[in-house]
Amino acid sequence: MYLHLGIKKRHAKRIGYSRDYCNYCEKPVIAELWRYRAWLGLFWIPILPLNKRQHWLCSKCNKQTDSRYTTGLVSKIVILLFSLIVTALLFDPEAQQYNDYIWWLRGLSIIINILCLVWLFKHKKLPSHQQRRAKLAPLKDAHCHFCQGPLYIGLETRCDACKLKVYRTVKDATKLSSKRPS
Ligand SMILES: [Zn+2]
Ligand SMILES: [Zn+2]
Repeated sequence: MYLHLGIKKRHAKRIGYSRDYCNYCEKPVIAELWRYRAWLGLFWIPILPLNKRQHWLCSKCNKQTDSRYTTGLVSKIVILLFSLIVTALLFDPEAQQYNDYIWWLRGLSIIINILCLVWLFKHKKLPSHQQRRAKLAPLKDAHCHFCQGPLYIGLETRCDACKLKVYRTVKDATKLSSKRPS
């Protein structure tokens, strides 16, 4: 029997925003901080409450800003090897059955190999998300990004209309476990 066990998000709530680097958009964006309680769920039934969690969602593409969206070096090598194997099979002298097309296919597969090679050699070690975050200028807006209303600026910065906290940097908000019992 197939049991669908998984993590469910309950009471997800947008609690703030800041500036972050989005790995999907590949540029600095306004990112929304979403907090939720993780539940262990069986099918659609939440059965066990887990910890509170949070993540940053890009306000442009709605994806998690720190996830990975580019092809890694290992995947590129695997794709190139696969393409080389296909080429080797196409150059098999026994492959007579596609006689009319075989030269087209061989030519095409060589072009694909070359493109794969170029793609592989152009692979650059990208700066990590941490490094990119560290380079961002802190957010110093006086107006809310969402409603354009004036922000309350005191001990904390927030938009009362949107009920959002405004963090100067992403790091300012990563204090989920700061309320440790002393
Ligand atoms: Zn994005
Ligand atoms: Zn607002």
